[in-house]
Amino acid sequence: METKRTIGYICPACGRPVLGERTAFALTASVAAVICDCGKGRFLSEPTETGARLTVPCGLCGKEHRAEVDQKALLQGPGIALSCPETGRLCCYIGPEEAVTARMEELAIAQEKEKRAEQEETAFLDSIIMYEVLSEVKEIAQRGGISCGCGSHDYQIAIRRTAVDLTCAACGTVLRLPAATDEDLDSLCCRYTLQIPGKKP
Ligand SMILES: [Zn+2]
Ligand SMILES: [Zn+2]
Ligand SMILES: [Zn+2]
Repeated sequence: METKRTIGYICPACGRPVLGERTAFALTASVAAVICDCGKGRFLSEPTETGARLTVPCGLCGKEHRAEVDQKALLQGPGIALSCPETGRLCCYIGPEEAVTARMEELAIAQEKEKRAEQEETAFLDSIIMYEVLSEVKEIAQRGGISCGCGSHDYQIAIRRTAVDLTCAACGTVLRLPAATDEDLDSLCCRYTLQIPGKKP
């Protein structure tokens, strides 16, 4: 049976994992390409005297990386993992089908998690609720309604992902106002004053 190698990478254009199988012959005889369904991600392997020169589309940084590999590593053994010089993480695998498929699944899951984390980071900064909560806090502040149990009227406002923190400048006590749901906004709207629960001097 002829040796086959599976090539896997994440397409930088559409973000999908791309897997392709090529025979050892195809990888050594001429230029072999593994192209994403979207037509943009394009992995290339060109034969050299000692192995192959690879062009790897990188789903982690969006660029293209080049690497030279020797023929033995390319065609035999556990396979090759290529890392992205920008992020330092692995972005392309070449080897036995099972191993490459498993590693690609891990890569896709890690990628997905990162994307979600990024979205969550920014999710509330531009949300309507956060905006409304902040303007409500400002209104209460304008009528001098924010104070601390320690007697201070100085405080700092910090925006968290799902809340607004009022920190007393004198004693450091924090009043956290949740700012994620309609209920959070409603319960703030009926407050005439806000008191940071600082200790009495
Ligand atoms: Zn693609
Ligand atoms: Zn990269
Ligand atoms: Zn205080």
